Amino acid sequence: MSAIDDLRERTRGQVFTEGDEGYDAARRVHNGMYDRRPQAVVRCENAGDVMAAVDYARTNGLDLAVRGGGHSVPGFGTVDDGVVIDLSMMRNVRVDPVTRTARAGGGATWGDFNAATHAFGLATTGGVVSTTGIGGLTLGGGIGYLARGLGLACDNLISADVVTADGRFMIASEKENEDLFWALRGGGGNFGVVTALEYRLAPVTTVYGGPMFFELADAAAVLTGFRDLMPNASEQLGGFPAFQIAPPLPFIPEDRHGETFVAIVGCWAGDPDRGETEISRFRDFAPVVAEHVGTMPYPALNSAFDALYPKGLQHYWKASFATELTDEAIQVHVRRGRDVPVVNSTVHIYPIDGAVHRVTADGTAFAYRNANFATVIAGMWPDPAQNEANIDWVRSYYDDLVPESEAGGYINFMAEDDQGRIRENYRQNYDRLVEVKGKYDPGNLFHLNQNIVP
Ligand code: FAD
Repeated sequence: MSAIDDLRERTRGQVFTEGDEGYDAARRVHNGMYDRRPQAVVRCENAGDVMAAVDYARTNGLDLAVRGGGHSVPGFGTVDDGVVIDLSMMRNVRVDPVTRTARAGGGATWGDFNAATHAFGLATTGGVVSTTGIGGLTLGGGIGYLARGLGLACDNLISADVVTADGRFMIASEKENEDLFWALRGGGGNFGVVTALEYRLAPVTTVYGGPMFFELADAAAVLTGFRDLMPNASEQLGGFPAFQIAPPLPFIPEDRHGETFVAIVGCWAGDPDRGETEISRFRDFAPVVAEHVGTMPYPALNSAFDALYPKGLQHYWKASFATELTDEAIQVHVRRGRDVPVVNSTVHIYPIDGAVHRVTADGTAFAYRNANFATVIAGMWPDPAQNEANIDWVRSYYDDLVPESEAGGYINFMAEDDQGRIRENYRQNYDRLVEVKGKYDPGNLFHLNQNIVP
């Protein structure tokens, strides 16, 4: 029996190879730039399938890519000639309303997760787009609307089921394999395949929020207002400023469609009676041109912008943390944000404070606990012929921000060419990450990621 036949035999899910029906769909990831042809895509159904696929890749000396939701900007979820572990069949979410916890398969998206927990009036911090995977997002840290109140997604992780490079299954938590658990919370996909994640939940049902658009001429006032407000605002107030071309949506005056605005997407997750007052704090910054703000289920806000990011766009992003959002940084944003090239591209400035600061800088692998903002210049556009111009915009915007930024950035917002910044991203935690990597993956089987080299 050939090795691949043996793998098929061991796999409950599906194994796609070149020529198989479904191979082309199975090899695609969210970022259309990465059109790679794996030797095999293993669509796993359970941890046993994952163990088989890990063994297959390791014993045959093949590159191994791991895919949860498939949103990796550098296309880490696919590889030429290697093996892809695709977890998209493992997305079941079980909620325990008594202990207020949820356990989700490693391939679940935030849409899967929020739908399941919302039925119980519960939620945890996830990303701002519902099609992103809980796996990659949580393992890298996890920034979202609820982070100021609840911490990062990884701060709410209670345990993880992991298949390590030697094909063994283990549980990582505060009580078992603590070093692995520490590394998983921010260290990305470096340490194994996480087949299930268990989270702490909090009561969140409806939120009050949505996007508001301000004139570009007010960009400095909006960014300064946001910077000055957030440190003193209630932790249940989340959201972020953005530069955004107005999509053709009914709440935006038709003659302004296609124009660039500075926006704030707000999310009040506290007492509903306070929603209007809390969100109105943003309205004090400058006159609002258009808004779509109100009470909505949390999953509705979480999926409100999905349509801007369909599968297959070209992606190139850059990111950095800022301890202070200086006046000089705001000037760079005012100057460069107006050139956002297409409706899918954006710049977001996420607050990193509140509960995120209550975890010590070495309490998890996520190192920048003293940062106050995480900036991402997220280039996304449909036409590959426009790659050079769009990548140039992201790079030169980022370069302009460098003097006002920390050396490191959030690993989940980084590009393929950011591997040189890994040590900076992890600062004081880097050496310990190398140690844990050496223990669980000495051969660097899991190297298609923001890689910590053992
Ligand atoms: P994948 O491509 O499947 O995974 C990325 C990498 O993570 C994999 O290559 C692997 O190394 C690792 N990985 C994923 N799942 C597992 C697993 N189960 N076990 C082991 N390793 C795994 N980030 C935020 O923090 N907040 C946001 O609001 C946010 N919004 C985003 C919106 C869009 C449209 C996009 C494209 C990205 C966004 N991100 C956000 C960034 C996001 O966190 C990263 O792209 C993340 O890697 C996506 O995870 P995924 O599982 O979807 O991706």
